[in-house]
Amino acid sequence: MNRKTLKSGEFLVENIESKDVFIPEEFNEEQRMIAQTCQDFLNTEVYPNVDKVDKQDRELMLSMLKKSGELGLMGISIPEEYNGFGQSFVTQMLAAETIGAGYSFSVAFMAHCGIGTLPIMYYGNEDQRQRYVTKLATGELVGAYCLTEPGAGSDANAGKTNAHLSEDGKHYILNGQKMWITNAGFADIQTVFAKIDNDRVLSAFIVEKNFPGVVINPDEHKMGIKGSSTCQIFYNDVKVPVENLLGKRGEGFRIALSILHMGRLKLGANVLGAAKKAINDSVKYANERKQFGTLISTFGAIKYKLAEQVIRTYASESATYRVSKDIDDLIEQYKTEGCDKGRASIDGISHYAVEAAILKVFGSEVLDYVIDEAVQVHGGMGYSAEMAVEKGYRDSRINRIFEGTNEINRLLVVDTAMKRAMKGDFKLFDKAAELFTNASKLTDGKSGNEDYFQEKLRYIDNFKRAILIGIHGVSTKFGKQLVQEEEVLNNISNIMMETYIGESLVLRVQKLQGIKGEAAVAVYKDIVDVFVYDAADKIRKQACDAIYAFSDAAAATSLVNTIETLTKVSGVNTKDARRRIADRLIENNGYKF
Ligand SMILES: Cc1cc2nc3c(=O)[nH]c(=O)nc-3n(C[C@H](O)[C@H](O)[C@H](O)COP(=O)(O)OP(=O)(O)OC[C@H]3O[C@@H](n4cnc5c(N)ncnc54)[C@H](O)[C@@H]3O)c2cc1C
Repeated sequence: MNRKTLKSGEFLVENIESKDVFIPEEFNEEQRMIAQTCQDFLNTEVYPNVDKVDKQDRELMLSMLKKSGELGLMGISIPEEYNGFGQSFVTQMLAAETIGAGYSFSVAFMAHCGIGTLPIMYYGNEDQRQRYVTKLATGELVGAYCLTEPGAGSDANAGKTNAHLSEDGKHYILNGQKMWITNAGFADIQTVFAKIDNDRVLSAFIVEKNFPGVVINPDEHKMGIKGSSTCQIFYNDVKVPVENLLGKRGEGFRIALSILHMGRLKLGANVLGAAKKAINDSVKYANERKQFGTLISTFGAIKYKLAEQVIRTYASESATYRVSKDIDDLIEQYKTEGCDKGRASIDGISHYAVEAAILKVFGSEVLDYVIDEAVQVHGGMGYSAEMAVEKGYRDSRINRIFEGTNEINRLLVVDTAMKRAMKGDFKLFDKAAELFTNASKLTDGKSGNEDYFQEKLRYIDNFKRAILIGIHGVSTKFGKQLVQEEEVLNNISNIMMETYIGESLVLRVQKLQGIKGEAAVAVYKDIVDVFVYDAADKIRKQACDAIYAFSDAAAATSLVNTIETLTKVSGVNTKDARRRIADRLIENNGYKF
């Protein structure tokens, strides 16, 4: 492997060249075929049934899941020896993106293939993998993941579900309650997190729904994703064979968190698919609906919405596949070092925790923006329950809540990066201190002539310097109390997200220009121009908010001047740039970027 890769969070202090990032335009034939198979499945099995399944037709949802299993779609992340297809992480993400356009089916499918199956694949022993994973990979069994409890949501380790060893040492006796469990209504296998005796941390158990004492409540009535089953589950003296302890005693919290990192990455891919579907619905409607004697797609205000939908989605996609390939490379490295396949996968995935949280937050908020504007483009029809965008609007909202709320994930972005730096993964704090000390002397870094991409990457580098100044400022001001200062952590997190996504976007388009030539990437440069121009503004605001929170007035004035310098970008005619982006969408009558 000759590619330079960065550790998780290292993008804060290191730059990378475009040749070292993977871009979606590099998907190979096999990956495109897998995506097409997923798309065909949506077209033939999911979309014709989507309204029926949303009337909470459990049998129908289950039969759709089983069919996807028969077609092999459930085995994409599972090695061949357990009846799967052992595809790369990039391919898994591409499949997740495609299925992400499948409304509540997507949630049921992803919960099964991800959090419902992978804890056993990644942490199970050979016997557990043979007994369960081989059948979960084909859809013979359906899986669920049971972490949340009435008193333990964001604070996942606070659960009260308890297990103790039976006198004969053959079973753990499980008692407690779980809630909001996806697929609970029909899942055969549950990964249940519970504390053994008075342990401080969780352990994990594989529980079969037919074990006596497992009681599943009726489905919750939800705002959206109505076709996905979500229930409370009670465990009343359930005898779980000792062979069904997953991993070691006390390893449950680690398992739960690693699986959530994986879930966040996959959610980042799912929301891309849903966003592209919403963009397609928007442009098709805008190209049909006439008002004032003309198509509404000719109106500037509508073009603005269409373009902005594309810009945010394309940018988010750039980061999604950049990190996916980094994960693949790390998994391969662990495998060559002799690591078991399952552990290599989860260790590679959970290493990229900073980027996982970024994709989850940024992607889910992009989707909410995109679908909200999709409803708006449809006018009154967008409010009709007959329209796909109405369903999309309700279904999208959950993405900011599950797999760790966006509040928790925003905190994780900064917290995890700082912890990794403290652990020695990369040098952050000395550089941050130096920049902070010399802040008043900092320039915008321009030296001599620079081409288009050199200029954009200089801007990104300046954004990184703003982050480091912020990190030094908040850490020295608040010290150990920093964790209580969520508002400033959010400021820094927001800057980190704009910067990582922006950098991924610029590097993608630079690489694309190398492949396709300058003329072919003109519209992608429009996307870069608008994204970076807007990001600079957002970053300036977030950085200034943080500065006023950690500095006295005199110091703040000087630091704010520095931030003005570091967020200075050349002017862009965003109106014309957005029009060109929208025109391409309108001309193609669909998302072809
Ligand atoms: C449809 C659906 C499906 C789900 N599927 C599953 C599943 O399959 N398995 C499973 O185990 N769970 C599942 N969940 C549960 C989901 O993961 C939790 O709802 C989520 O983690 C939030 O927990 P909570 O609902 O208890 O909210 P709370 O933790 O009570 O949070 C309430 C609010 O407070 C904020 N908050 C909490 N702590 C902090 C903090 N430290 N700093 C700042 N803000 C904070 C939150 O961000 C949120 O805005 C599902 C939930 C839903 C709605």
